[in-house]
Amino acid sequence: MTGDDVGLKPMLIDGQWVRRSGDPVESVNPATGAPNHRVSTATREDVDAAVAAATRAATNRAWAGMLPHQRAAVLHRIADAMGERTEQFAILQMIENGKVWPECVAQARSAAATFRYYAGVCETLGSEVTPPRGNYLSMTVFEPYGVVAAITPWNSPMTMEAQKVAPALAAGNAVVLKPSELTPSPALELGRVALEAGLPPGLLNVLPGRGDTGAALVAHPGVGMVSFTGGTGSGRRIAEVAAGKLMPVALELGGKSPHVVFDDADVEAAVAGVVGGIFEGSGQSCVAGSRLFVQRSVFDRVVAAVEAAARVLRVDLPDAPGAQMGPIASFGHRDRIAAIVDEARAGGATVVCGGRVPDAPALASGAYYLPTVIAGADRDARIVREEIFGPVLCALPFDGEDDLIAQANDSVYGLAAGIWTRDFTRAWRVARRLEAGTVWINTYKQLSIAAPFGGFKESGIGREKGLTGLRLYQQAKSIYVGLG
Ligand code: NAD
Repeated sequence: MTGDDVGLKPMLIDGQWVRRSGDPVESVNPATGAPNHRVSTATREDVDAAVAAATRAATNRAWAGMLPHQRAAVLHRIADAMGERTEQFAILQMIENGKVWPECVAQARSAAATFRYYAGVCETLGSEVTPPRGNYLSMTVFEPYGVVAAITPWNSPMTMEAQKVAPALAAGNAVVLKPSELTPSPALELGRVALEAGLPPGLLNVLPGRGDTGAALVAHPGVGMVSFTGGTGSGRRIAEVAAGKLMPVALELGGKSPHVVFDDADVEAAVAGVVGGIFEGSGQSCVAGSRLFVQRSVFDRVVAAVEAAARVLRVDLPDAPGAQMGPIASFGHRDRIAAIVDEARAGGATVVCGGRVPDAPALASGAYYLPTVIAGADRDARIVREEIFGPVLCALPFDGEDDLIAQANDSVYGLAAGIWTRDFTRAWRVARRLEAGTVWINTYKQLSIAAPFGGFKESGIGREKGLTGLRLYQQAKSIYVGLG
């Protein structure tokens, strides 16, 4: 390791651990307010060094010349090593973003499974022979971009990072990963595991830092493609820089997803889906079903049932047995959520439940906020239109399919949507009319690594996951062989 401050977590560049003591990130546990650790932040010079290392690694025959099944073997070893360290990964996430323990464990397992999935895809997805229109043989092969910059948010760092790093490597690229300043540790652990699993140095570099580190990476001339997950504002800034370089970008951005309950729905199942859809992860999920549309004839009944379920959700320390909701990931974000709810209340909306921090003395030093249900908000109110990214659900009535579609699609976002009804033809019709990249019918937040995922409208560009999620990191090259 280089540098002196041994209490400081290092970054990973070209297989070496490097410490930087200037302007470190001070990680705080949002469940307790206690300091966790300090983390090096990458300077512009570190970005240069990481991109140079990634460029060497991507063009080195040791990786570029590797056969797909050999590359897959490395990815399998990473998956094995992640699986062996599930608890370690889960703890790192829990202390940095405060998610409850079972969710941290599930996400650690899911991240390992993503590496295994892309190991499989890597050895099965090949080139294409295209139909000839003359006396030639034509093929399309798929080649990597070289260096991919992967930039991730704090809400689900392990799954987002696996979802980018595994397919980008499988596709033959090298990666420079810039995790969120709130959750750098799982990414650093992934870097360690990958090195130990035999990934050649330089193929995965991990640069903790803030937005300016990410911006320097995006602007770097050596970066050939950016895969970003985060807020729509940051995504727009990245797209502007990418436009100047004519560089492809994949953007997974925000959402304000409609969750729809028709009058013929199985109310018990729908309420469980609605409550899990917004309050799991304290609402800090891009696909959180934050706008609840209920058919007017059952509105009061459904909202009362959602309220009853929200009131008994157990908000507690994330490692407390039975905890269903932990803290918000940072104090600043908790205060922002509280301010938006206060603004809605002042604007005349009804706070059906929640709308404040919990009373429990054990939670007083953490960044907690109660599950909150709002009714009667103006359709143009900020609480109805903006992504809150917290445990806040806005309930809105609708009068029929056309009214529902008009209201649900009246959003700049289009990430996900949910529908609860027993009428399958209606469910299908509505699913096709909703502007969203993922629609769930009589379920919510069901996610598979095999299904493409991404947003309509300002929720993003491109699709991660599935076979599409590997092609995202490749460019097509068509080759013709004359047979005359
Ligand atoms: P954010 O946009 O503030 O930050 C995301 C990452 O980008 C961080 O690593 C940050 O340091 C970096 N960054 C910030 N500005 C940058 C810039 N100009 N150039 C390069 N990098 C920059 O988002 P966040 O607060 O960490 O995460 C919450 C947001 O992420 C929410 O809007 C949520 O909806 C979205 N999200 C989307 C998905 C999805 O798949 N669509 C998944 C999870 C989260």
